[in-house]
Amino acid sequence: MGLQIRPDYLAEPGEIPAFWISTYDEIQAWLQAHVSLGKSEIIGKSAGGREIQAALYGSARQGLGTTTFSGALGCRDMQAYLGPDAAKKVYMGIGGVHGFELEGIVGVVNLINVLETGKDLRGTAWPEITETAKQLDRIMLIPLMNPDGRARVPMRMETNKGPDMDCHEYLNIGCWADGNRIVWPMCKTLIPMDFDQVEFPGGYPNDAGVNIQHDDFFGKRQPETEALFALCARERPDLIMHMHTGAPFRNYFMRMLRDFCEPALTPVFEQLYVRVHTRLALEGLQSSNDPVVEADPTQSSLGPFNLTSALNLHCGALNVVMESPSHGFSGYDRQGELVTHSPEMLLDAQLYCHLEAMRFLAEKGGRIKWAPGRNRKA
Ligand SMILES: [Zn+2]
Repeated sequence: MGLQIRPDYLAEPGEIPAFWISTYDEIQAWLQAHVSLGKSEIIGKSAGGREIQAALYGSARQGLGTTTFSGALGCRDMQAYLGPDAAKKVYMGIGGVHGFELEGIVGVVNLINVLETGKDLRGTAWPEITETAKQLDRIMLIPLMNPDGRARVPMRMETNKGPDMDCHEYLNIGCWADGNRIVWPMCKTLIPMDFDQVEFPGGYPNDAGVNIQHDDFFGKRQPETEALFALCARERPDLIMHMHTGAPFRNYFMRMLRDFCEPALTPVFEQLYVRVHTRLALEGLQSSNDPVVEADPTQSSLGPFNLTSALNLHCGALNVVMESPSHGFSGYDRQGELVTHSPEMLLDAQLYCHLEAMRFLAEKGGRIKWAPGRNRKA
């Protein structure tokens, strides 16, 4: 047993871009120094005692409904759950549910900087994000949901290894005590993971060994999950974007997953899928520039019950996972050509996803408009 990373996997690039804020300590210090228009809040602590920070913008829904989310579905009146401020539009973005999936973490930090200054940390202005944010009532951003997993991997950034994902997957998912890499999805056979059985546990689990994407949602929840559930009960968000790293190796571009959720949200999910992938395609951040190919939601198959599903059934929000390519290795496009994403491209893709998701919420009006029953036309 040991938590020692193989020394040859610890390499960092000679130069790390200034916008790449990715470690627990960097994020803590950065939020403290840069969140001023918004309000930073410690929403909870991890199993290992680390703070989970959120940056909150705008005004929250005031007052409570009279029933649970399930009750609202049952009585076909979503306002009975959302309360008097049901028409407010509440957006949420989460990075780092898996601690060493850095693209989503960096993306959320940069999105916070856009909300604070109009520019990302490269100095690139995002007037569309600034305008869209004004059309939302509340924006909640959590750069690092699993600080234990992130703190376990000390590097700020990986070097790019070409089409060899061994190092990245070792750091992300871990390695058994016998020296064999823990492969996805077999990493999910042990929740909690017994750290005595591994050479390195990777960044997936918290310090209690639990990958919160597959927590015991109806049993004993981990403190990270509990913090998220409590925040969502208080705020009743409409749309939650979960930014992961795990784009398909043979279509190695940002991809939205279709996870199990309440069936009434399926058409809403599909509209969002079209929006996000169309924009990514038009920006040159998909395998082709053709939205007909890249933004076809029928190509996505239904995924399992996980944190996104649990949050949907907890508070009614549409929850969506985006899987980014990694900066640590390359993959292949639809034609079989090698694709390497620069850190700049990865950041662009993150910010376009948030932009289009926020715009979708601004235009489509949120959960009160997506409800089955009599609130549908509210
Ligand atoms: Zn992940």
